[in-house]
Amino acid sequence: MNIHEYQAKQLLAQYGVSVPPGEVCDTPEAAKKIAEGLFAKGETLVVVKSQIHAGGRGKGTFKSGFQGGVKLCKTADDVYEKAKAMLGNVLVTKQTGPEGRLVSKLLVAGAPEIKKEFYCAVLLDRASSRPIMMVSTEGGVDIEEVAEKSPEKIVKETIDPAVGMMPYQARKLAGALGLKGDLIGSAAKLLLGVYKTWWECDAAMVEINPLCIIVGSDGKETLSAVDAKVSMDDNALYRHKNIQEMRDLAEEAPLEIEASKHGLNYIKLDGSIACLVNGAGLAMSTMDIIQHFGGNPANFLDVGGGASKDQVTAAFKIILSDPSVKGILVNIFGGIMDCDVIATGIVAAVKETGLKLPLVVRLEGNNVDAGKKTLAESGLSLITGDTMADAAQKVVKAVGV
Ligand code: GDP
Ligand code: MN
Repeated sequence: MNIHEYQAKQLLAQYGVSVPPGEVCDTPEAAKKIAEGLFAKGETLVVVKSQIHAGGRGKGTFKSGFQGGVKLCKTADDVYEKAKAMLGNVLVTKQTGPEGRLVSKLLVAGAPEIKKEFYCAVLLDRASSRPIMMVSTEGGVDIEEVAEKSPEKIVKETIDPAVGMMPYQARKLAGALGLKGDLIGSAAKLLLGVYKTWWECDAAMVEINPLCIIVGSDGKETLSAVDAKVSMDDNALYRHKNIQEMRDLAEEAPLEIEASKHGLNYIKLDGSIACLVNGAGLAMSTMDIIQHFGGNPANFLDVGGGASKDQVTAAFKIILSDPSVKGILVNIFGGIMDCDVIATGIVAAVKETGLKLPLVVRLEGNNVDAGKKTLAESGLSLITGDTMADAAQKVVKAVGV
């Protein structure tokens, strides 16, 4: 699960990471009010930031033609104007795809003077099976590009999870960023806080880009997390009620939300052949075999080990609401489940949804003969496959790819 920048900054602040002061809002009036408060407290510049679960906002363009999802403003009236131009409009960035994302929330924050931009992230390093912190002097830009063109500019520190990040490691990274004097201490405190956020929140990734040297009104330089991205490890979400509440359903694919209501594991893909399968491993191999025979899966859909008639019906409805689906492959192995129960569910679902697309069904396992009989006697024009390969070839042929 992803969360918004303003939420990520709330979490970071709890662990002592310095972030610019700011508040979230959803109307231009509220944006103006927050800005007035910030100016009254001595900020000389305020930033209005579109809150969407995608990066590249600064260089993004709204479908209305308005340029930039991150705007600096000198007056509260300007904040009002910029907020009005962003709210309710669709922002397209490098990461959103051409369809873009609707902006319905803004972060209005103090915009300190930035002297230098760095990059910092914590994630799990699969090679060493340990957390790592990565920093780079090349902040504010596409880190993938830095990794490709000048990998030596990314410095990594492996962390022993049993003891956590050590202060010397944080100072070492601060040194790698070329920091001197008081800034080393300021950076070390911030980096330790970033690691602590990652660890305590069970995050999959915490990314600060840019991490900035900012200049305070007194001329003093400190470090601040100007942008923040946190994604959660969903398997650990159950133990973070406060973070569960940060879920923004408006940012998630509607079909995936509908699927999760029925206990279905559904991920939309780009192809034309929908698959309905029980078990994640079987779902993966079904997608592989569709591809092997020249087709393209339209989704990953695991109805689970004990799929009920209602779940199968819900699954069909979800599949059918995707306009790119041209055919369906049902591949069920009745290990625990009775194939006849599934067959009955398929027949009911096809009748209820008035399915017109080609449907190939492959059943195997427990009580399979009764299941096949139910399908054969249903009067529906479905195609049966004897093996996975047979079924996959039949569905690929039926959709005519
Ligand atoms: P992203 O484009 O979605 O990654 O959004 P960011 O929050 O990283 O903003 C993009 C760029 O806008 C940053 O790299 C900064 O250069 C600039 N920016 C963002 N916030 C501030 C701020 O508070 N002060 C200043 N001076 N610039 C900012
Ligand atoms: Mn950024």
